[in-house]
Amino acid sequence: MGQTAAWGYHIYHSLWAGLDWIFPPTCGGCGQPGTRWCADCQTRVIRPREPVCDVCGVPREIAGVCDGCKSSPPHYVSLRSWSVFDQPVRGALHRLKYRRDMSLGDALAVALNEHIRSLGWPIEIVAPVPLSRKRLSERGYNQVSMVALPLTLMCGWGYRPQALSRARETRSQVGLSREERRNNVRDAFVAQPSIVRGRVVLVVDDVTTTGATLSSCAQALIQAGARQVYAYTVARALARHGLKDV
Ligand SMILES: [Zn+2]
Ligand SMILES: [Zn+2]
Repeated sequence: MGQTAAWGYHIYHSLWAGLDWIFPPTCGGCGQPGTRWCADCQTRVIRPREPVCDVCGVPREIAGVCDGCKSSPPHYVSLRSWSVFDQPVRGALHRLKYRRDMSLGDALAVALNEHIRSLGWPIEIVAPVPLSRKRLSERGYNQVSMVALPLTLMCGWGYRPQALSRARETRSQVGLSREERRNNVRDAFVAQPSIVRGRVVLVVDDVTTTGATLSSCAQALIQAGARQVYAYTVARALARHGLKDV
């Protein structure tokens, strides 16, 4: 961590640690009082089983690139997720989404930091997947930024929440098939050339299922002049969990 980045994160972290002292936290995974992300939940996190597809990150039998990525390559170089979309992470993400638990976001970012660094990606700037204007005004904040901001500060990259915006409203991906998901988010995003031109960009989201949203974001970024796009999510919904409910 560079000196400036270290200070940026130190200030951010101290803020939430201070609030935890005033308002004792409960665990984001199991609700146990006294900690934001308890030791028990830390050990219960299910990690995607290796090997995974080099491109989309879905677990498979042998290393390499899966048939889906060969026949229609996504616009990102690589997509990886820290965990499988299941408990306790599922509960923690729900809490981030509906309870604006910033200190939980900070605690998760500490765990993600180690994993994302191990990937060795040459990231320069970070763009969270934006919410639609309607969703943002209902919720008041983008839950992805709860994790993406502290993670970016820890890694010493540039945080650019204005890099991506929604070109149009889309319906929720919940309940859609793979093909329907791809069509639903096609051309749904635009990127700011002045922010992304010539840069290596990391797009961050909370959950991915088929990677369609992230590929659509990557396409917008490349069209705006980004050099390369990588994608990262807190969790990955896998086929055995079904596409219908995420
Ligand atoms: Zn817990
Ligand atoms: Zn793949």
